[in-house]
Amino acid sequence: MTISDQAKTRRVELILPARAQAMGLRTATDAKIAFIRQSSLWWHGTLYYCPLCDQEFQGADLAARHLVARQHPVLRWELAVLPNVEARS
Ligand SMILES: [Zn+2]
Repeated sequence: MTISDQAKTRRVELILPARAQAMGLRTATDAKIAFIRQSSLWWHGTLYYCPLCDQEFQGADLAARHLVARQHPVLRWELAVLPNVEARS
């Protein structure tokens, strides 16, 4: 099972915490899109963030554990890999 497969789980639209919105992620769908874009680089991060739980994770292992257990799009929370959400479509 890949990270992309897990991201396909459908979820009710909700508005994300202010911290996620500051990074350009307004809804759970935005977070999912960002997550899919990151998937090839995902494992190389040091800091991760789950916008659905408003919770930080240090290191890919902890982040992956949350991702698998909750099926949440845990994102690499580093500016270099965050998407420009404004640029889509
Ligand atoms: Zn979560």
